[in-house]
Amino acid sequence: MGDPREKIFREAAGTLAARRNAVALTGAGISVESGIPMFRGTQGMWEKYDPMEYATIGAFLRDPEKVWAMLAEMVEVLSRAVPNPAHFGLAKMEKMGLLRSIITQNVDGLHQAAGSQRVIEFHGSAGELICLSCWNRYPSPEKIRDGIPPRCECGRILKPNLVLFGEPIPWTAQEEAESEAEGCGVLLVIGTSAQVAPACDIPRLSKRKGAVIVEINPEETPLTYSVTDLHLREKAGDAIFRLLKFLRQIS
Ligand code: NAD
Ligand code: ZN
Repeated sequence: MGDPREKIFREAAGTLAARRNAVALTGAGISVESGIPMFRGTQGMWEKYDPMEYATIGAFLRDPEKVWAMLAEMVEVLSRAVPNPAHFGLAKMEKMGLLRSIITQNVDGLHQAAGSQRVIEFHGSAGELICLSCWNRYPSPEKIRDGIPPRCECGRILKPNLVLFGEPIPWTAQEEAESEAEGCGVLLVIGTSAQVAPACDIPRLSKRKGAVIVEINPEETPLTYSVTDLHLREKAGDAIFRLLKFLRQIS
């Protein structure tokens, strides 16, 4: 008989190898094994700082110093994080010619650190700071070393160049993500609860154009029974490791 989960991994790997045209949509779950906490759940800093109170553009405009208390902790966590086997596995799939791009909701830069070349940062990046008055940009680690909250030359408190709740998606990221989502043969949906719009609409775009939707998540999500074709119910690192094992055998 064998492990029934084995069959679904073989099927997913077979589809990836046959279509050679996958895109990955990643969320906070792929970086959990790098020590970065998700918003949901009970880990670390998000117990202290409710994202709905701190991670909104309204809160930042009202009281940027208060929001920087949270951001300083987030930047500290991110600065210690390194890519995990899931990030490296996706970079490997790109090198093998099986994965054409990654659309990430994460702001941690770990896909690039793992060597992935084509990464669309749907929610921006914590690696850069921007001034909402004169639109100057600064690399964040250097600027933050000068003190918190970091300030622009014009004196205004800088904002990380990431999308806070209530802010629009940068239009280039939105356009690129839509075009990748509509052009792929397989969409790997990894570590996202699919509850944050408009990122959660991406799998439907791919599905409508005929892509096979492979979801990697130890839990079920709103996509699991509506959009997903194959649910690999494991942690991202383990699932991608198993996929690569089969892919090496067949491609
Ligand atoms: P989410 O926190 O809403 O959901 C994370 C999902 O990952 C859950 O469905 C969970 O079951 C799953 N998961 C947990 N551990 C996993 C593992 N080891 N492997 C695979 N899946 C696992 O995340 P979201 O959907 O990305 O939405 C939250 C928003 O906040 C996004 O914009 C997100 O990028 C942002 N955020 C980013 C970071 C980061 O940059 N690393 C961290 C926290 C939140
Ligand atoms: Zn300025």
